[in-house]
Amino acid sequence: MFDIDAIRQDFPALTQHGDTERVYFDSAATAHKPRCVIDTLTRFYSQENANVHRGAHQLSQQATSRYERARQQVAEFIGCQHNELVWTKGATEAINLVAYGLTAQLQPKDVILITELEHHANIVPWQQLAKRTGATLMAVPVTPAGLLDTAQAEQMIAQYRPKVFALAHVSNALGNINPVKVLLCQAKQQGAWTLVDGAQSLLHLRPQMADLGCDFFVFSAHKCLGPTGLGGLFGRFSCLQQLDVFQTGGEMVAKVRIEHTEFNPPPSKFETGTPNISGVLGFAAAIEYLNNLDSAALAAHERSLMQYLVAQLSDIESVSLLGDMQHNVGTVSFYVQSEHPYDIATLLDMEGIALRHGHHCAQPLMHALGVNGTVRVSLAFYNTFAEIDHFISALRNTLEMMA
Ligand code: PLP
Repeated sequence: MFDIDAIRQDFPALTQHGDTERVYFDSAATAHKPRCVIDTLTRFYSQENANVHRGAHQLSQQATSRYERARQQVAEFIGCQHNELVWTKGATEAINLVAYGLTAQLQPKDVILITELEHHANIVPWQQLAKRTGATLMAVPVTPAGLLDTAQAEQMIAQYRPKVFALAHVSNALGNINPVKVLLCQAKQQGAWTLVDGAQSLLHLRPQMADLGCDFFVFSAHKCLGPTGLGGLFGRFSCLQQLDVFQTGGEMVAKVRIEHTEFNPPPSKFETGTPNISGVLGFAAAIEYLNNLDSAALAAHERSLMQYLVAQLSDIESVSLLGDMQHNVGTVSFYVQSEHPYDIATLLDMEGIALRHGHHCAQPLMHALGVNGTVRVSLAFYNTFAEIDHFISALRNTLEMMA
């Protein structure tokens, strides 16, 4: 059974605002954390604090084994091997790591293919790679509704035979789920290195690496109930082996002489310096929490919330919805022709509703759609129908006041 009231009790941030009724519709920016995550962080610093991989003392050994067990738990969650999961600061750093690591693999004649709907984190590192190597960066266009133009994607993959193909599993601005599997398969057939930006999909779709069929998959822990400052990179082991190191220093080395250094094998080769130990342990707690929920019931609840939200929003005449409401993880973007998204978001905040406005770090997408920004509602399984009612009523009042 999916007991939403019990679930909400697990999230202190949902219930600790005193008398003020607060609605959190910004989970695509960062998700709230269940109590078990917060407790894990507190316990680590109050009882278990030690560095990993270094000390002979008990605390350090315990920290190391908890830290590596956590890697195993997260690897199992995404369906990969322990040595195929690299810890990073977040999805952004993971993409930078791959884009930098591929530098020696590209030549000026090569094409890097991305899409117009990417978050800046999946655009700028590829621009920089193109700059370093002389390769050409191209982007698959979106349709007027903001969906990935899959016919164009297939055509561009066949025509340009990209050396790198990187795309979002789910658009952070519009919530659309992209048909990644089929496109990755085609890009692979053309010999591309493939990367999926899973920052927005991990929590909602729980992708399995073998099923997706990509070489690399990146995510951020904080968007999947975990702490901030932590993310991950899945890489097929053979692909990780071929990547050049990104940042260098202690921890990632097997042998150091003044003239030369031998690096550890992956994943250690990409993890230099003291890692985010508490973050990793906290994230494993988040994953355990998710594993203990009924995932089918949770997905059904998210779907019903989304359908309810879309139906309510569609009833407001001045609201224009963007994107695909069917293949969507519960993120809805809209605009109101005569009003600035910032004004709407600010007035809604005064009604206790937290949501996001603006370009959502996806300026090329906004440019392609001809809007300067949108108002974005992003739901998670801990939201309720009553919150949607509260939001819709506040939005109606706001728009009436602005008219
Ligand atoms: N990719 C997508 C699709 C995102 O939504 C985000 C963050 O919003 C990122 C990448 C960057 O994530 P982070 O800032 O956690 O590195």
